[in-house]
Amino acid sequence: MEKKELKDTLHLGNSEDSEQKYRRIFECSMDGLLLWDNDHRIIDVNRAGEKMIGIPKERLIGHRVYEPHTILEKRKQEILKHIDQVLEKGQTCSTVIFKDEEGNSRYFDCSSQLDILGGINFTIFKDISEKIEIEEQLRKSATLNVIGELAAGIAHEIRNPMTALKGFIQLLEEIITKEHPMYYQVITSELTRIDSIINEFLILAKPHATRFQENDLNKIMKETVDLLSAQAVLHNVQFVTDIDSKLPLVFCEPNQLKKVFINIIKNAIEVMPLGGNITITTKMLEGKRVQVSIQDEGAGISSEKIKKLGDPFFTTKAGGTGLGLMVSYRIVNDHQGSITIESEEGRGTTFFIRLPLDLNEKKETL
Ligand code: ADP
Ligand code: MG
Repeated sequence: MEKKELKDTLHLGNSEDSEQKYRRIFECSMDGLLLWDNDHRIIDVNRAGEKMIGIPKERLIGHRVYEPHTILEKRKQEILKHIDQVLEKGQTCSTVIFKDEEGNSRYFDCSSQLDILGGINFTIFKDISEKIEIEEQLRKSATLNVIGELAAGIAHEIRNPMTALKGFIQLLEEIITKEHPMYYQVITSELTRIDSIINEFLILAKPHATRFQENDLNKIMKETVDLLSAQAVLHNVQFVTDIDSKLPLVFCEPNQLKKVFINIIKNAIEVMPLGGNITITTKMLEGKRVQVSIQDEGAGISSEKIKKLGDPFFTTKAGGTGLGLMVSYRIVNDHQGSITIESEEGRGTTFFIRLPLDLNEKKETL
């Protein structure tokens, strides 16, 4: 009798019971669980795993772990790399990274153990894409805050001596240009460059001194396009616009948003030295948000570099400042919106700027 009670407390029933218990644990795990054999074929997968992989169980069982994804060669390579590590070490943990069908990077934390039961291998996996994305956003916004604080101090300090320098150089123009025309040109163009960097910094320094009002985003975009049309013609670039005329008003700071559009469109022009089309679209999104997309036909950006966009001073241009996108991220951040980038090397890049129609309370009190 005593013996039976102990057995009950330990939940050890007969073998059928215990199999059912293990199956329930297996099925109810929030992590993806996968059993596979030495031929890399899937023996079993739990519900969470099925959902994360995005393919029904019936179509997974019997297939090799990388087979259901054969369309995406890169994904197969990543999985094989992980399998190689398990085979070599007996067990391994690694993050498998690949692009999903929509081109977004997905990150899976995978821990695998070889031979947990005669010839059966076991993998636990978890989709950590959201976590990684949040970490990346935090890193970016932390950098932005630091830069903002620095900018407030430095930009003003530099601006005053700069004004004096510019004034005196202009006074000296006649004398210098007579003897050293080249020097004068270099000095003034470098001074203009410093000026533009200071101006970018000043935007970062006073993100709260802005006036938010309900505005017509299409009108802001039209003004931006008009402003840049001369530059576009010069570079043989045409603007193609697809504007949603029913777009509701957006609570925003028009000059700041104009700055964002100018930065992104200018980059688009600069990335097409032989000319081409820049397609600008505005549309309504679900959840009271609007989307502006700016698409170019330039060289595209590698996924390695996409991560760096918006980092201060990241530039691939000889005369670039690497501040345009950082400022843009900052402004869109202040509007509680987001900027995402899709790019295909050799084909072009699209910037998506998504903005809420209204800001939440926290922002309105600023
Ligand atoms: P800058 O234009 O001064 O280099 P930005 O912050 O505007 O600084 O852009 C940073 C970098 O991002 C650019 O140097 C370029 O490498 C990359 N980039 C931005 N927009 C595009 C684009 N549309 N296509 C390809 N690369 C781009
Ligand atoms: Mg730029």
